[in-house]
Amino acid sequence: MRARTRFATAAVHGAWDPKGLGAGMVPPIDLSTTYRLPIGPDGPALMDGWVAGEELDGSPIYARLHNPTVAAFERGLARLEGADGAVAFASGMAAMTAVLLAARVAGQGNHVVAVRPLYGGTDHLLSSGLLGLRITWATPEAVAEAIEADTVLVIAETPGNPTLDLVDIEALVRDAGDVPVLIDSTFATPVLQNPIAHGATLVLHSATKFIGGHSDALGGVVAGPDAWVRRLRQVRIATGAVLHPQAGYLLHRGLATLPTRVLTQQRSAMTLAERLRAHPDVLEVRYPGLAANAGHAGIVARQMRGPGTMIAFRVRGGSAAAQGLLGGLRVITPAVSLGSVETLIQVPADFTHRAMDADDRAAAGIPDDLLRLSVGLEDVEDLWADLAAGLEAAREVGVDRAERVLAGV
Ligand SMILES: *Cc1c(COP(=O)(O)O)cnc(C)c1O
Repeated sequence: MRARTRFATAAVHGAWDPKGLGAGMVPPIDLSTTYRLPIGPDGPALMDGWVAGEELDGSPIYARLHNPTVAAFERGLARLEGADGAVAFASGMAAMTAVLLAARVAGQGNHVVAVRPLYGGTDHLLSSGLLGLRITWATPEAVAEAIEADTVLVIAETPGNPTLDLVDIEALVRDAGDVPVLIDSTFATPVLQNPIAHGATLVLHSATKFIGGHSDALGGVVAGPDAWVRRLRQVRIATGAVLHPQAGYLLHRGLATLPTRVLTQQRSAMTLAERLRAHPDVLEVRYPGLAANAGHAGIVARQMRGPGTMIAFRVRGGSAAAQGLLGGLRVITPAVSLGSVETLIQVPADFTHRAMDADDRAAAGIPDDLLRLSVGLEDVEDLWADLAAGLEAAREVGVDRAERVLAGV
């Protein structure tokens, strides 16, 4: 047994325990697809164990059943979330799909209650009918009412992508009653929020984002109680959406610097959110750390250790001005994804939330001209200078347009 340690220590040491003289400081990347088998009756017994979703010491048999590098990442993440265990998948969407399939097995129904906004891909997966689920969309206040006899899961994202709306996890869990609650905590990371400590059954991360943190590994992970972990492993074995060991290695490595990255990025995000709010051309800033985002303050204090590194905002002049801003940037990159060391910006209605119906987007509170900024590790003054230049470019577009309107062109 390891000593009980604080968060940053667990992030660095939690996942891999080099035992003995000459043991490596990092887990090896195990690329084998197949492993030497035990001979005799131990073989089939081992196979039965893996297929039942157990984690065993013996031969992994086949890489779709188990991979030791990925397992090191899973143990580290579970520790940071305070969960019994975690199961990693090829992407965040593969993780979400696995939870939905596992919920059907666990709950004997096909009804899911979902709170908007959600990541556009998740919204699309639920709306598409692809998994044969019946979805009721509910505001957090209407969740209790939306629960039916065959509801197998309640899904919410907090902070929500891309609007930074917050959901009170404890209130949601109360309203869900016996129905398990899944929180997509990608925006918060385990550094800022542990949904299981607030009663959620499961917590999901697109590990592609903050956990990897360097825009070079795709992955997803779900943490929760033992029974769910077994179920999720069974789904992974059956559907095959395994995390590649190379990505498992990178995500495991990402855990060590996760607290340092998130806290530094958060400090810059607070500065940028304040300055954006004070800028005359900025119409609206959504950031959980701003006093102006009133209802949020209580929720941040109750369930988060900080407001995070993501900012959403709108500039005067609408979509044309938003495009003008993007065109005026030199340090910040227009790109989807988030949580990486470099600062990224995009218009969700055009990219990450494009697959949603326009009406659904409006219902989720995502205007067409909303910009989503993921604050990275660059010097905050360089980031502000770049945003200021972008705002200047946005204003020129706005003025251009006004002039054209006046000239009747
Ligand atoms: C990106 C994202 C996902 C999907 O993750 P992928 O790794 O891209 O499949 C799910 N939820 C949230 C909140 C995200 O930002």
